[in-house]
Amino acid sequence: MNHTVYRARALVIGSGCAGWAAALHAQRLGVDTLLLTQGLRMGTSHNTGSDKQTYYKLSLAGQEADSVMDMAQDLFAGGGMDGDIALCMAAGSARAFFHLCELGVPFPTDAYGQYAGYQTDHDQRRRATSAGPLTSQYMARALERAGQAAGVRVLDQHYAVELLMHEGRVRGVIAVDIARQGQPGHGLVAVIADHVVLATGGPACCYRDSVFPDSQHGMMGLALQQGAQASNLHQWQYGLASTSFRWNVSGTYQQVVPRYVSVGEDGHPQEFLADALGEQRAMELTFLKGYEWPFDAAKAQGSSQVDLLVHREMHEKGRRVYLDYRQNPRGWRNDLHALPETAREYLAASGATQPTPFARLMHMNAPAVALYRDNGIDLEKEPLPIAVCAQHLNGGLQVDEHWRTTLPGLYAVGECAGTFGVRRPGGSALNATQVGAQRAAEHIARQPVLSDEFTGTDSVHALAARLDGLPQQPAAQDAALRMRAA
Ligand SMILES: Cc1cc2nc3c(=O)[nH]c(=O)nc-3n(C[C@H](O)[C@H](O)[C@H](O)COP(=O)(O)OP(=O)(O)OC[C@H]3O[C@@H](n4cnc5c(N)ncnc54)[C@H](O)[C@@H]3O)c2cc1C
Repeated sequence: MNHTVYRARALVIGSGCAGWAAALHAQRLGVDTLLLTQGLRMGTSHNTGSDKQTYYKLSLAGQEADSVMDMAQDLFAGGGMDGDIALCMAAGSARAFFHLCELGVPFPTDAYGQYAGYQTDHDQRRRATSAGPLTSQYMARALERAGQAAGVRVLDQHYAVELLMHEGRVRGVIAVDIARQGQPGHGLVAVIADHVVLATGGPACCYRDSVFPDSQHGMMGLALQQGAQASNLHQWQYGLASTSFRWNVSGTYQQVVPRYVSVGEDGHPQEFLADALGEQRAMELTFLKGYEWPFDAAKAQGSSQVDLLVHREMHEKGRRVYLDYRQNPRGWRNDLHALPETAREYLAASGATQPTPFARLMHMNAPAVALYRDNGIDLEKEPLPIAVCAQHLNGGLQVDEHWRTTLPGLYAVGECAGTFGVRRPGGSALNATQVGAQRAAEHIARQPVLSDEFTGTDSVHALAARLDGLPQQPAAQDAALRMRAA
């Protein structure tokens, strides 16, 4: 059985923000680049968002003095983070951001053309910006257009299942051509390259309660299987999200102070936040959750109590938890006087004094309501099922200041790279996708060209033979291949 062999100087796996950025930069630097992906529009970047999806960068507006070292120190202060990586992320941030602006990502400017920023989680400056709820999608689409225009070759509908090793370094991958998976040879192909860049995102398939899109699985396991070192693999970011339609319930979804209820087998709704915290404190922390979305152990006595109580209802008491926008929480007063001063002033200044959470949400953020309606959920009529969900892996494959993994020939960029530690400023994941991709591509472009004697066919035949030995059920073979990758 002959298997197709593709060749490129750089192989990038993944078509999200990180993969397309790496492929585009490498191709523009004269490196013949092939991008292989399970699905061009699959993964987190193309299919996710939030109330205001944030991009974190060096402050670039007159209102805020900033420096590369200040930003690096703030990233480093998240804990468990490598200082060199923090410095690279800060140093590359303005360049990466302007590159995206030039590609047409619609980051807003003020009347004077300044990219005015706002303060995000775990940061004291106003470095954050947003192109709206779908910032990562705008980025991925803009990078994809530019990458295709630059001549990056694409192998779509191919699923990488095994790294090809030769003389101690990574020299490519074995992938499944999904259209030919059920045929003799299992659709296995080899892609041989001097350098392989993993841009395969977070290992989303680890969690049941997840706000990753369904189409994101991850494939870090391929590198771990070959002995790559990992870093901070246990450092995940969790937060409250709706589960029937996967979406973070951050920002205005909390600031309008909806009612949190849990329901058990008797079907009787219970206001568990007010029961546990008292009515006023429950409302105060709900409002605060809008600003402090991710669960943070350091805020276990503050807004993260909400996450802990939701988790307890679901996993200790076996109850389902909902956000209910139809009714105010217990103890609510229409003059807002049950709220602490900051929340009261904020809602009054926003004109959000309507009698129900739904009406306040409509007033403050009508697109947030429309989004759910477009996905079959009417917040005016039904409660919204939520859970504490996995959103982002801060750790991942260990990389150095060129985003090289510990396996020679293998780079990791974007979420599969373990560049963060305990906490990270909101929006810094998207900055990391761009800076890491830029650094990896520049490093690859400086390397000598390797010989092209290696074909990888022995490894492909060996894997095909192992699959032949499995029961003749496509599902069993498919599962075996996916397990290898994840
Ligand atoms: C709900 C939500 C909200 C978020 N909000 C923010 C935010 O406001 N700010 C921020 O900075 N970050 C945010 N993030 C995180 C950020 O969106 C991601 O970290 C980022 O988009 C990941 O980009 P990536 O290119 O690394 O991976 P992805 O975009 O996930 O791309 C992975 C790619 O790899 C492909 N792939 C995977 N396995 C294989 C395989 N075996 N073979 C071939 N291809 C494969 C996939 O198909 C996909 O194309 C959010 C994440 C979520 C889930």
